[in-house]
Amino acid sequence: DGRLLDVEDLFVEFRTRDGVAKAINGVSFSLDEGETLAVLGESGSGKSVTAQAIMGILDSPPGFITGGRIRYCGTDLLGLTEKQRREVRGPEISMIFQDALSSLNPVFPVGWQIAEMLRVHRGANRSDAREGAIRLMERVNIPAARQRVNAFPHQFSGGMRQRIMIAMAIALDPAVLIADEPTTALDVTVQAQIMALLAELQEERRMGLILITHDLGVVADVADRIAVMYAGRLVETADVHPIYAAPAHPYTKGLLASIPRLDQKGQELSAIGGLPPNLTRIPPGCPFNPRCPYAQDVCRHDPPPPLIEVRPGRRSACHFTDRVLADSEVEFDHTH
Ligand code: SF4
Ligand code: MG
Repeated sequence: DGRLLDVEDLFVEFRTRDGVAKAINGVSFSLDEGETLAVLGESGSGKSVTAQAIMGILDSPPGFITGGRIRYCGTDLLGLTEKQRREVRGPEISMIFQDALSSLNPVFPVGWQIAEMLRVHRGANRSDAREGAIRLMERVNIPAARQRVNAFPHQFSGGMRQRIMIAMAIALDPAVLIADEPTTALDVTVQAQIMALLAELQEERRMGLILITHDLGVVADVADRIAVMYAGRLVETADVHPIYAAPAHPYTKGLLASIPRLDQKGQELSAIGGLPPNLTRIPPGCPFNPRCPYAQDVCRHDPPPPLIEVRPGRRSACHFTDRVLADSEVEFDHTH
């Protein structure tokens, strides 16, 4: 049906010393060609685990996919062999991580690492692969790429290393790029440049882009849609602008109120009191109830219905979503 990626009722568990951690609990979403989806939530909400499940890089054990489907262009990735999976990972779906230094190999020149992808996957010869690597380094705006193709990762700044990671990630022209907190380790000016680069590449290559972040502030300008996660569930999904104007879920409201200030870079500060639940002991009822200013008795006993449509294209999983949305709309009118 033209969908690039379809995640359907995904469940992931981790066996820990504390017991079974229910990391992902029935998550469904899809991504279209050329679409940018921001996946938002605090640490431990399941954003990275979802990405790892899509990439097929969940450590197994201790991480297990216990239910659901992940379809890429109609094919269920969970039914593939590891060998088939490797043909998807890189050429079709690729990923960049927060920490470029630990993702790049310290003992090989960066250009060699990019060229190696072209040699292994495209069968390029040495000199073509090297030229390809230089072109990619130029495309991600590394100054003097030709002179620096033989430099090592530690000879680049954090921002430049992140650009090299991006060059590797797009080397094989993937249809889907997943960026997990791609700018969290960088300072604010560099963050903005990297986001702009990702947006540019997404547009130019018509990639589906999944941007994982704890910071609503960095995705406002680049995302088409937002999916908010809490305790391994999706709690709200919407087009980007309505969600900023008037969130329909109390957790989204809390996240919006806690967009980090410039002087608090990299911290997962929160205006929401308390912490996300221990995933081995998710509270009964709505998992957000211990922290939720809207919580009533029913929230401590009955799980909210899964994402229901509250406005066209907007879904929220909360017993009192109408009330929350009405409050948000009033607040928005008062501040604009
Ligand atoms: Fe808060 Fe209840 Fe809604 Fe959960 S269901 S977010 S506890 S109001
Ligand atoms: Mg993470």
